[in-house]
Amino acid sequence: MKRFVFLDRDGTLVRDEGYTHRVEDYELLPGAVEGLQRLVAAGFSLAIVSNQSGIGRGYFDEAAYEAFRDHLERDLTDRGIPIERSYHCPHTPDAGCDCRKPEPGMVLQAARDFEIDLAASWVVGDRDHDVELAERAGCAGGILIEAKGGPGTALDLAMAADQILSKAP
Ligand SMILES: [Mg+2]
Ligand SMILES: [Zn+2]
Repeated sequence: MKRFVFLDRDGTLVRDEGYTHRVEDYELLPGAVEGLQRLVAAGFSLAIVSNQSGIGRGYFDEAAYEAFRDHLERDLTDRGIPIERSYHCPHTPDAGCDCRKPEPGMVLQAARDFEIDLAASWVVGDRDHDVELAERAGCAGGILIEAKGGPGTALDLAMAADQILSKAP
């Protein structure tokens, strides 16, 4: 059984200008590489869980999503940060799917794809729905990344990683 950290993508790993999908807009956020390297060194596996309603809204297509995903995964792998798999929800909010966060569908799919100890796994993201996802999927907890900070939140992924590592055995 592996411990996972489920990572939101936009606004958590990469700069989010809204419906981010162009490789030329790709930019890792400060603290992301450091935080992920610490999690990997501590034995966590990583997966990305991302709402991508821009696909369902027709702003960009699956091929554009995949090109951005491949670029991100390759860049992180080159830095010693393997991503086990990226999951995304392409649906609009009114589609009623079971994968759009805070629905737990993406994490539950990952638990079918890998041997995951969900109770020892975490979610990190920049929206309340990321923290709610952690609760709904039965994870150990969710860490909210907030630029302005606040109780129980982290300023960036490096701080989020430190919070997880301070709570994980
Ligand atoms: Mg986000
Ligand atoms: Zn969905």
